[in-house]
Formats: sequence, structure tokens, C-alpha cells
Amino acid sequence: MRIYLDYNATTPLRPSVKEALLASMDLHGNPSSVHFHGRELRKRIEAARSTLADYFNVHPKQVIFTSGATEANTLVLKGFSGQVIVSAIEHRSILQTLDHVDICPVDENGLIDLAFLDTFLQHSSKPTLVSCMLANNETGVIQPLKDVVSLAKKYEAFTHCDATQAKISVDWSSLNLDFISFSSHKIGGPQGVGALIINPDIVLRPLFRGGGQERSYRAGTENVLGIIGFGQAIDVCRDEDWQEIETLRDCFEEHLLKNFPEITIFGKKVDRLPNTTNFSMPGVKSDIQVMTFDLKGISVSAGSACSSGKVQPSHVLKAMGVSQEISSCALRLSLGWQTTEQDMQKTFEICKDIYTRSQDLCL
Ligand code: PMP
Repeated sequence: MRIYLDYNATTPLRPSVKEALLASMDLHGNPSSVHFHGRELRKRIEAARSTLADYFNVHPKQVIFTSGATEANTLVLKGFSGQVIVSAIEHRSILQTLDHVDICPVDENGLIDLAFLDTFLQHSSKPTLVSCMLANNETGVIQPLKDVVSLAKKYEAFTHCDATQAKISVDWSSLNLDFISFSSHKIGGPQGVGALIINPDIVLRPLFRGGGQERSYRAGTENVLGIIGFGQAIDVCRDEDWQEIETLRDCFEEHLLKNFPEITIFGKKVDRLPNTTNFSMPGVKSDIQVMTFDLKGISVSAGSACSSGKVQPSHVLKAMGVSQEISSCALRLSLGWQTTEQDMQKTFEICKDIYTRSQDLCL
């Protein structure tokens, strides 16, 4: 059996999500139609919307369904009128969406530089939007969002959080964010659906106009099956206990460091997602590692998944001040609910094998 250690790229479907999808596949109709068929689908969309609203502790009217986190990020960045500052380690759908964004640096642990943000906000012209992710997809490093939001509020700036990698439980209401992006396929739901949680008091220009769906924030017939599955996935993920997964990750890292103390584990000194480890084995290029693991039946990643399938240099590690030499040998393992102790033992053995061989070759 193949081993899947790429949960930050996408997750397997949760069994109950699959059931909900199968049970809904025979439904048809346009949810905007007023007849019976339309109303049946509308009911299901609104049920999923309520589930999301409950999870984020907002009013259902604040939930806008999108095609994923990329679209949610694009909607908020493009729709907002004003200055935008984002952290240097954001996903490319944040970094590459606008012609100009201001960049807030991060420290060597991958944490946003709050002193820089403070100075920036002091001098920024209003309105300003601060966009900072909850947790980084490559390193798993969790950002000090409470501090980011309180700084932003001090200067009357608005806040957006790309919470796509929320593989932890979060008290959303205490964070008091204006916008939150979320994606279904990172939490066991189907691909191609996500949501933007909005503060309805802030004007956002829609990306698509047309039929007026999603309260005119996002025209286009809804991805009904996707939305049903997304709602079901939220129901499951809110009860997820990550403790066992964190223990598997920690044991793996301990073994790795004991055998190869020269390995660098990124972000290890600060709070990280319980399922993510990103490390560099000096001398073994990332693509060689990914291919070797693949041949041995384990799916891993060199960082973030990208459409070309090529291993690109990581802007995240670069922003953390990691040298090109070290970052070109980085490997990301992201564990999930199907990961077992045996999986991690096998993964460790392969790491050991790859690394020992590379050392032998250097002698
Ligand atoms: N933001 C982050 C932090 C991500 O990890 C990803 C997925 N790699 C995205 C945004 C994009 O999500 P989607 O695939 O739903 O567009």
C-alpha cells in the first residue's frame, strides 16, 4: 500500500464526505430556481453555509462560497480598495495577485516581523488591509495572529487571514478578523470549493458579475456538490484530535536528529501545525528525494505543490534567510488522519537510506 504524506497539498476525502456526496449525486436543479428541484439544492447550500458560519462564529450572510482559497484570496485582495501589506511567506495566490503589495518580512523562524508591521502601519495611508496566514503550508509555522490583529486595529487597518492550513482548533471569534479564506480540500472535503468569510461593513468589489449568486459577491451557479461536501468536512474537522499525529511527527523528527544532527528542521523552535515537518538533508537535492520516495511508494513534497510539477526554490525558506544550498535540499512531510506509526518508520528508513548513501558518495 502506498503511503500518502502530502496532506498540506490536499487531503483524502473523509468517508462521511464521500457518503454525503454519493447521497446527493442524483439531485439536480439550479439552486436559484424557485421550483421544487431548485429549492432542494438551495436548502443544502444554506445548510452548509450555516455549518461554516457556526464553525467561524459568524452570521451565515458572512459566508461566501468560492472555488477554493485561491479565489477567496483573490476576491479579498482585488476587491479591497486601498493599500495592502502581506507577509513574505504567504501563498503565491496572495503574493502574485496584485500589481503591487507591500511585503512584511519574517524572522529566521518564519514569524511575521511585528515591529516592521507596526512602523509600516504608522506611516500607511488609509484604508489598509493586512493579510497574514494562519499557518504556513510549507513549514507549518503558526503566525501570532492575535498580535497582528491588535496591531492592525490600533491603526484602524483591516485584516485578512488565509486560514487554508487550519489543521488546529482555532477560536475564530476571539481573533476578530475581517476576512478569512478557507479551502475544502485541505480538510477532507472535495477539491474546487472554498469560502471567504467577510466583514459585510467593508466594501469588496466582486470578481465576477452576472446572476447575483452569493449575495452578488460571486456570480455563477454554485458548486452544489462541492459545497455539500465542504459542509460535511467542516463537521468532521472541528472534532479532529491532532495529538497522535503530532506525536508521530515529533518522534520522527527526534529519530532524524539523533541519527543526523546536521539536518535542519525549519520552524522547530516555534509553534507549528502538528502534522508538518520540513527539513533539509544537506547534499541531497529535493527533487531527488521526492523521486526516490515516490519510487519507494511514498508521496511527499519538496514544499508547496505547484501546477508544473517542478520543484521550485522556496520563497518561504528564502524569506526565513535559509541559504539556497540548504533550501534546495528541503523536504516537506505533512501527515494526516490515515498516517500510522509504521508509515513513519518506513519513511524514516528511507530517509536514512537516502542520506547515508549520499554521504557515502561524498567520501
Ligand atoms: N493558501 C494556502 C496557504 C495554501 O496552502 C493553498 C493550497 N496550496 C492555497 C491558498 C490555495 O488553495 P486552493 O487549492 O483551494 O485554491
